[in-house]
Amino acid sequence: MTDLQPVRGTRDLIGEDHRRFQHVIDTARRAAAGYGFEEWATPIFEDTRVFARTLGDTSDVVTKEMYTFTDRGGDSVTLRPEYTAGICRALVSNGLTQSLPQKIFAAGPMFRYERPQKGRYRQFHQIDAELIGVAEPLADAEVIALGWDILTALGVAKDTVLEINTLGDRESRERYRTALVEYFARAGDELSEDSRIRLERNPLRILDSKDPGDKKLVAFAPTIDEHLTESARTFYERLKDHLARFGVPFVENPRIVRGLDYYNHTAFEFVTTALGAQGTVMAGGRYDGLVEQMGGPPTPGVGWAAGIERLSLLLAEPPAAPRPVAIIPVGEAAEAAALDVLQSLRHAGIRAEMGYRGNLKRRMEQANKRHARVAVILGEAELARGVAQVKDLASGEQSELPLAELAARLA
Ligand code: ATP
Ligand code: MG
Repeated sequence: MTDLQPVRGTRDLIGEDHRRFQHVIDTARRAAAGYGFEEWATPIFEDTRVFARTLGDTSDVVTKEMYTFTDRGGDSVTLRPEYTAGICRALVSNGLTQSLPQKIFAAGPMFRYERPQKGRYRQFHQIDAELIGVAEPLADAEVIALGWDILTALGVAKDTVLEINTLGDRESRERYRTALVEYFARAGDELSEDSRIRLERNPLRILDSKDPGDKKLVAFAPTIDEHLTESARTFYERLKDHLARFGVPFVENPRIVRGLDYYNHTAFEFVTTALGAQGTVMAGGRYDGLVEQMGGPPTPGVGWAAGIERLSLLLAEPPAAPRPVAIIPVGEAAEAAALDVLQSLRHAGIRAEMGYRGNLKRRMEQANKRHARVAVILGEAELARGVAQVKDLASGEQSELPLAELAARLA
């Protein structure tokens, strides 16, 4: 076999790419822990109904992007295109609807059949936060504040704007739906074919259309504002108060509806201008009906997901490559004793490496190639005296240290 390449839309993460990726996850995980979130891992494939039932049969994800296949047992399964549905399934499957609230953090791969481009892949990865079981807008504010803190810790908050909107409660949406149908019906043929279907099945979805013609119509479409019920309006006002108190800056954007069907009340996106068309880095909202759709009791929930690849691209400074300590034995007898030193450093938590062959010069070259910060040179005479030559490879400075003190001095 020659020329085997990664499948279109997938990427290998190696070296700096992986360090950027891991830094995003580590940073998010730490911040989520501070808010009391616990990490879950759910399967990367689920019964197709988990997604088809809930994301909406007019959403782009369900109609065009899902990796769905029949397995050898004849069951239809789907590689997860998003986290929330699977997490709500897991909540119900594990009987956790009786132990609320649950604050869940997760990180892992997602799969969507999309046209690959910068910041858009077929296997991509998300960090995700879900707060399930709390109906108060404080929960919405908390998950958004967590998102903001993560973007801040990554140094990308300055390049992103938080846009929020409300989709209201059921009654607000019914009223709004009527207004939208009236407006878009007048557009007739000007609507894209997809949106003419949406008009019948889910007119709100037209607001999320990427078709240029639709976008022009959407610009003048009615907004939900004048259709909100009193309680939906109060909910939204309280969310904004909480965000202000948390010091999270936001702008209101009445066009944000989110691409999936299960949202109500809060919808939000963190967007950047730094990634071209792939401007949304983190997005989410409230989904009070979803757990029930999954077969559980009525349970409120709110959360977000963020694309790790997009966040990685935004990181200004790539995390530095780790720099080991290089152990360099000189002579055959020293080689065996050097293994003891090597292991004692490793067991003390120090990143330590030893070349597999070569004389002093060759091993020094290897140490430099691996960006070692320090070389510990062990000659037979030194070993007999229980000491080592320790050379700082940046400054070139060299000093003698007792072996017993090595770990403490190199830590
Ligand atoms: P877009 O409008 O860019 O297609 P979306 O609305 O489909 O995004 P969501 O379903 O809200 O995205 O997913 C949350 C986040 O996951 C996005 O904000 C983005 O950062 C990331 N994401 C979504 N699809 C992809 C993809 N194909 N490749 C890389 N990241 C993605
Ligand atoms: Mg999309």
